[in-house]
Amino acid sequence: MKKVILFVIDSLHPVVLGRIISEGKAPALCFLAKHGTYYERVVSTFPTMTPVATSSMITGTGPDRHGVPGFIWYNEEIRKLVDYGATWQSVLKIGPKNVILNLLSKLNTEHLALETPTLYERLEAAGFSTGNVNLFMHRAAHPFRAKLPFLISLATGFQIREKEIFGPSHLTLGQLVHLPFSGRLSAYPRGAFSRFGFNDVFSGAVARQLVREGNLPDFTVIYFPDNDKNSHHYGPLRTGPSIERADQQIASILDEFSSWENALEETVMIVTGDHAQSTVGLGKDYLIDLDRGLKSFKRLRSTEEAIEDQHEIAICPNERMAFIYILQRHHEILPRVVDILGKDARNAQIAWKIAENRYSVMQGGTEKQLFFSRDGLVHDVYGQSWSYDGDLSVVNAHVTEDRTIKFGKFPDAFSRLISALEARGGSRVVVSAGSGYEYFAEGAPIHPGGGSHGSLEEEDSTVPMIVTGRPFVLENPRIVDLYPLILDHFEIGKH
Ligand SMILES: [Zn+2]
Repeated sequence: MKKVILFVIDSLHPVVLGRIISEGKAPALCFLAKHGTYYERVVSTFPTMTPVATSSMITGTGPDRHGVPGFIWYNEEIRKLVDYGATWQSVLKIGPKNVILNLLSKLNTEHLALETPTLYERLEAAGFSTGNVNLFMHRAAHPFRAKLPFLISLATGFQIREKEIFGPSHLTLGQLVHLPFSGRLSAYPRGAFSRFGFNDVFSGAVARQLVREGNLPDFTVIYFPDNDKNSHHYGPLRTGPSIERADQQIASILDEFSSWENALEETVMIVTGDHAQSTVGLGKDYLIDLDRGLKSFKRLRSTEEAIEDQHEIAICPNERMAFIYILQRHHEILPRVVDILGKDARNAQIAWKIAENRYSVMQGGTEKQLFFSRDGLVHDVYGQSWSYDGDLSVVNAHVTEDRTIKFGKFPDAFSRLISALEARGGSRVVVSAGSGYEYFAEGAPIHPGGGSHGSLEEEDSTVPMIVTGRPFVLENPRIVDLYPLILDHFEIGKH
């Protein structure tokens, strides 16, 4: 049976990938596309944030089931905000120790639901070996000791120097967990300026070593993080150079096989992104300041624990999307929060749950409102059925004569909105920004004139995908479809 390598390039933009392939600037990706199936539009999850989307890839479910709602979210169980380290300021504020623990251990052991087994867990249970190079989602049964670099230990006041974590047969997490390096040490860029090994070159070097030493697991995820940073900085349409650098790493991995053709004989290779990005306008108007807009409510701060009469809301900015949690028993304020957000035309959607299986979504700056529920007389292309009343233009959808609901600019809008509203407990309002806008609140990274993501909109939500060595016959692919595709390749049933 062929081995499978899944390459994940963070923030891979379909238009830019298409362009650099046609310009001959990405020889490895071009080779894979020529010998495989090229999908220009695969729908990611909502919010279009890395922890959410990669959890979906690795569990085949949306956040309503896998339980990782966002990069920043409110955890009702501990009555505190969870932040995986959105900004350096927030790292300092929440404490490096908490960020490290959230990322290194809680994300996989407490946040990612046990009811949704990972691909690593399913494959290992069936006797296959699996591997993960630098992706933060890695839950499986093998124990590893993560050794924290001196600078990180220093930042945590030496409260954490080592941490036991669990992963697949092979696990690399930068310089925290890795195999004994072989060859030139400079091939593995480490240290604070190389993000402690969480970079494309390090990922590529480990992957080459696995192939060269004959240790490539049956299924391996190889994650390339650098393009995300580049896209935030220069804007998504200027990511050609960073995608080309990821391409060079993939080419060097292909070179470890006797030929590129033989690489395809021996392995199924899949290349995709977690989400894409869109361009943010330059200037203050493009930042939707939620702290200011919602200043009349008592807000939970990042370091605090929610107390009944002291906190009414928690604002959790996720770039072009935000959760506004209504804390404890303050349900009466939800309509007021909706009302304020509804007056701002920069909010493309404002959504909330009304009752069991009944949701509402409004378009900011208009009177347009839509109600929707699962199960009903209209069907979508994913085999889901819906009932609705109100104005479908809120999610840019229309219903055809054969009662099919088609979503335009907001792919799979109903199920993705529900997934964000139902991810773990907590009453909330969800907002998604219009083109060019991004949310600001304390703890939010901002990218004026650069790139951002998180929203329900197509440009953040669709990634390209290349699949070689296997037919992939979905007409409307979503990233959650990778899970059954990979299980199917290893002849493992869905349940
Ligand atoms: Zn990002």
